[in-house]
Amino acid sequence: MKCPKCENEGTVRMGSGSWYCDKHYRFQQIRHSAHSRGKEVPSLEWLEVNWPKNMECPACHRQMTWRGHPERASCITIQHDREGSTRFLCYSCNVRHARYPDDSFYAIPEGHKPCFDCHKVLPLSDFDFDRRSNSFIGRTVYCRECSRRRRRGYARKKTAPKL
Ligand SMILES: [Zn+2]
Ligand SMILES: [Zn+2]
Ligand SMILES: [Zn+2]
Repeated sequence: MKCPKCENEGTVRMGSGSWYCDKHYRFQQIRHSAHSRGKEVPSLEWLEVNWPKNMECPACHRQMTWRGHPERASCITIQHDREGSTRFLCYSCNVRHARYPDDSFYAIPEGHKPCFDCHKVLPLSDFDFDRRSNSFIGRTVYCRECSRRRRRGYARKKTAPKL
């Protein structure tokens, strides 16, 4: 079954009975969720023109996916900025954006990355390599300092005597 929106093979069966490709299925989901949250619904044309063709999240540089599984964090989403425009972001950056003042989350210079713990924007060299991570750049999500602190905290919790 071909996707009704393009020439690709459909992979997801819609309520209507037609089969959509991963991309067009996700576009429908994005539009539905914008609608149900009372946000401006992007047109299919806008999505088609503006989706990042290399599927790289513009904020954390991880490779985004069309489907929310097996890993939801990398799923492609749209974010309505406080300044009023719409952008594509991975799910985890979309969630994290909310913790930054204004739209400062996006003002990330080349070769930098936000730490997901202390929320500082730091050069890539402050992050350890992470081979397991599906991140495009292959770096940990926490800066070196936070990773160290988190590891220590974890070790303490593990060895703390039960009261
Ligand atoms: Zn399609
Ligand atoms: Zn991201
Ligand atoms: Zn940090």
